[in-house]
Amino acid sequence: MLFDSFQGAVREEVPLAPYTWLQLGGNAKYFAEPTDVEQLQGLVCLANAKGVAIRVLGGGSNILVRDRSFDGLVLHLSAPAFEKISVEGNQVKCGGGTRLAHLITRCVGAGLGGLEHLVGIPGSVGGALRNNSSTDEGDIGTWLKSATLLSREGNLVRVEGGDVAFSHRRSSLDELVILDATFELQPGDVRQLTKREQTFWILKRSKQPNYPARSALAFIDPDGISAAELIQRTGVSGMIEGSVQFNTTYPNYITANTGATSEQVLGLLDRAQKSIQQKTGFVLQPHLVVW
Ligand SMILES: Cc1cc2nc3c(=O)[nH]c(=O)nc-3n(C[C@H](O)[C@H](O)[C@H](O)COP(=O)(O)OP(=O)(O)OC[C@H]3O[C@@H](n4cnc5c(N)ncnc54)[C@H](O)[C@@H]3O)c2cc1C
Repeated sequence: MLFDSFQGAVREEVPLAPYTWLQLGGNAKYFAEPTDVEQLQGLVCLANAKGVAIRVLGGGSNILVRDRSFDGLVLHLSAPAFEKISVEGNQVKCGGGTRLAHLITRCVGAGLGGLEHLVGIPGSVGGALRNNSSTDEGDIGTWLKSATLLSREGNLVRVEGGDVAFSHRRSSLDELVILDATFELQPGDVRQLTKREQTFWILKRSKQPNYPARSALAFIDPDGISAAELIQRTGVSGMIEGSVQFNTTYPNYITANTGATSEQVLGLLDRAQKSIQQKTGFVLQPHLVVW
């Protein structure tokens, strides 16, 4: 096997569905869970040398894997080396594979505020930075001080937060891997921050389908109006394609039921997009990244 020298860090023909929230899609030809940055760099260099395409998987909450297999290498930062969190003064550094939920809990426990409104957003810190995860209270990018990235060529690159462009659900952090991130936060009272976190958690739970529903956000909000409002206004709410449906309670979410396929998700998003464009003129962009 191509990656034999990586001592069990790489498996072949691994189904990706269990790694994503929608639980759909085909296999990855190669699936790697490197133990540390050095091994990750080695994998990237070998894949490059052999012309193997590479993709990075976080918590899988914003990825739609197509039904056919991906003929390349998927990198998953699941090893402890990519999930470390350390606190120094008002700065918190964490690995790109850290669950966002763990980071927030640690920050709140350390009396550092700023990220607690993001509680309840599924996924990893790497995914949250790539997509610039946000709520009505703000985005994650606001708090980024610096990050270490791995370039597509396998080189380590350090970026300062101020040099990264963040906009609604987008960032310019488009190197291959976000390895770690340092956030500069606001000192606060642990009890008050915990209360805030709990309040945001309750609010978030009331606005999204609860896990383990096979759900995902459908569209990015366009300027000036929410996608949810457009979905409701145009009768797209509840729209069905095969076994995939727009959630009637939480309008901008789609849910995959038993028998669902990725093709059905794509078909549903396409129909919804066209219908909304026809009725309102808004051309909505899918929130999901399609693999
Ligand atoms: C129920 C539900 C509620 C949600 N609510 C919100 C919300 O309130 N606000 C919001 O902004 N989003 C929300 N989302 C969307 C989603 O949770 C976010 O986009 C999240 O940040 C994705 O993180 P992830 O680790 O799951 O990334 P994935 O889905 O695994 O990947 C998403 C993208 O990030 C890239 N990526 C992941 N990790 C890395 C890394 N370490 N380095 C480089 N690239 C990486 C992937 O290659 C892919 O392009 C919600 C999703 C669901 C299912």
